[in-house]
Amino acid sequence: MIFNEIDKIKGIPPKLVPKFTKLVGNRYADVLLHIPASAIDKRKVFPVADAPVGARCTLKVRIVNHRAPRPRSRAPWKIDTTDGTGELTLLFFNTSAWIEKKYPVGTELWVSGQIEGLLTEKQIVQPELTDGTTPLKEVAKLWPVYPLTAGITQNMLYKATASCLETLSKETAKDWLSPALLEHKKWPHYKEAIHKAHNPEDIMDLDHQSPARQRLSFDELLAWQLALLQARQLCKKEPGFQHIAKYDLFNKLQQSLPFTLTADQQKAIQEIHTDMCLEEPMLRLVQGDVGAGKTLVGLSAMLLAIDNGSQAAMMAPTEILAIQHYEGAKKLLEPLGLRCALLKGKMKAKEKRETLEALANGDIDIIFGTHALIQDKVTFNRLTLVVIDEQHRFGVEQRLALTSKGLHPDVLVMTATPIPRTLSLTAYGDMDTSLVKEKPPGRTPITTTVMTQEKIDSIAGSIERIIAKNEQVYWVCPLVEESETADLTAATERFEYLNNMYPNQVALLHGKMKPTEKDAVMTAFKEGEYRILVSTTVIEVGVDVPQSTTMIIEHAERFGLAQLHQLRGRVGRGALKSYCILLYTAPLSHMGKERLDIMRQTEDGFLIAEKDLELRGPGETLGTQQSGHVTTRIADIMEDRELILEARQYAKEILSKPLTAEQKQSLEFLLQLFNKQDAARLLHSG
Ligand code: ADP
Ligand code: MG
Repeated sequence: MIFNEIDKIKGIPPKLVPKFTKLVGNRYADVLLHIPASAIDKRKVFPVADAPVGARCTLKVRIVNHRAPRPRSRAPWKIDTTDGTGELTLLFFNTSAWIEKKYPVGTELWVSGQIEGLLTEKQIVQPELTDGTTPLKEVAKLWPVYPLTAGITQNMLYKATASCLETLSKETAKDWLSPALLEHKKWPHYKEAIHKAHNPEDIMDLDHQSPARQRLSFDELLAWQLALLQARQLCKKEPGFQHIAKYDLFNKLQQSLPFTLTADQQKAIQEIHTDMCLEEPMLRLVQGDVGAGKTLVGLSAMLLAIDNGSQAAMMAPTEILAIQHYEGAKKLLEPLGLRCALLKGKMKAKEKRETLEALANGDIDIIFGTHALIQDKVTFNRLTLVVIDEQHRFGVEQRLALTSKGLHPDVLVMTATPIPRTLSLTAYGDMDTSLVKEKPPGRTPITTTVMTQEKIDSIAGSIERIIAKNEQVYWVCPLVEESETADLTAATERFEYLNNMYPNQVALLHGKMKPTEKDAVMTAFKEGEYRILVSTTVIEVGVDVPQSTTMIIEHAERFGLAQLHQLRGRVGRGALKSYCILLYTAPLSHMGKERLDIMRQTEDGFLIAEKDLELRGPGETLGTQQSGHVTTRIADIMEDRELILEARQYAKEILSKPLTAEQKQSLEFLLQLFNKQDAARLLHSG
């Protein structure tokens, strides 16, 4: 069975198995999904005399002499060979006498590599060697090149793959794709596709667009979508809390607002309200750009719950965000007679006890908090709506932990990280989505400029004018290659530099600070105690300081576009004219220039996310925490956008009809192949 875990495998010395499984995965199937990245072409076979200098050739030769280098010299080990038509010298670096033992004079070998030297004295440096008794057609072919790790060689992978392919050939699962689809796409049977991935006959077979690879990409995306849809169906099986359409509070809120809701806000709210009134539990994602007004959308959902005599909970990833949501809500909702509360990690014992009691007996309508909300001692009287901010900072388990405290509550997830549709389908495929794209009217656009780091002194000097207007400045320090300590050093240095120019007006914020310290600095800045906030990237999430009008980001070229967009979103939140200055260190690569130009040209987070995905690939767009959700083995989220949509459609069709035993077996095989064991189990039981 290819789904067994690898304990031993042909070609891999037992003590290298852990290293090997770390590279490819721990099942035989994973070996099959570890496909070559390129290939070496050994198809040009020549006699030595005819082998063109500069070309990669395969030749059959006999060893006539070994020439060992002098001891301790760095010179190569030379082997003289001939094939009767001419002489060829093979050069090996960093080798020792074992080579002579292994290949004594008289040995016949296939050698392969680039011919160097003069017409008469031909040589190959570090040729690849194959036993001379191997038949020509097994040597003169395309040799796959696999991604490797230290200690694992191509040869090991050839052997391991060959034995796994043999196991695969004995599997009995039928193809899960319909003959009609295969015919239409000109795709091969799955066994043939996998076989071909490892045994390319042509350079084109290594192309991601080749029929075999497209088929496997589709398989992977299909497995993914089947898993997501199944999880969704499972969750819908149990009826959720069905709210009744009562909008007294929501109407009152609308009347109390000094502005009208944007069309996007209204549409999102309507979609949510409709979902909440269904028996089917809601699982909806609200995606909105920074400042697009998601908060009101979340609050409007809560009001429907409360009009139904229920409670709502909102979980945010950091304390400062929870506080911000709480304070914003209080301002709007207390005048309507609602009772909001905040649950913090650190609270006075008495205060905490009272909050928990009030929550348990229904005296609190809406509770805001961090992870503190999922602690065991938190109980609700009647929780029917859960709102989760910045979902990607929470796992699915945390979402479930909170919902399990309620009466099959509806779930609303909000994220300020715009994700291109294809990516969101892959990452959040199970969620219905509402988009809040349009910004409320009356925002002055942020002017973004791109400058070299050399301008830093004059930029620092010009802050004086900003401060004089009673406005505030964010100064984000360079991201130093994934080292928090180095990030901190850079921030500290910048803090000292600015604090010299503007004594007592500069605050420092960094990731090494305790959450309470961070909150204290942030609060002081928010209250205007400091005018300049120097920070590492910790200010990223939605903190709101309306007086901040200038964002300076050093080494902007090192940041992901999505991250720059998030950072820039910290300014331009009020009516004041705002600026963003992106500093870079020359020379800037072509791509680097293109990326910063995008930031200069647009404030549309969705467009930026789309471009970011195009330029850098999916990991960056979602941020590191989330990229784990969309790591694919074969499919390419960018290149295969169309396939994602097709796979989703195909998955829906599959699940819409009852399955025969044979279909179940083949789909289970597919799901297992791509490590969706949970989904495979569901398919079996459902
Ligand atoms: P985000 O989507 O980043 O959470 P917020 O909900 O914080 O955005 O909204 C940003 C600001 O816009 C808030 O000050 C809010 O009061 C204001 N706002 C929200 N909706 C509207 C609207 N329809 N018209 C005018 N201002 C609005
Ligand atoms: Mg419902």
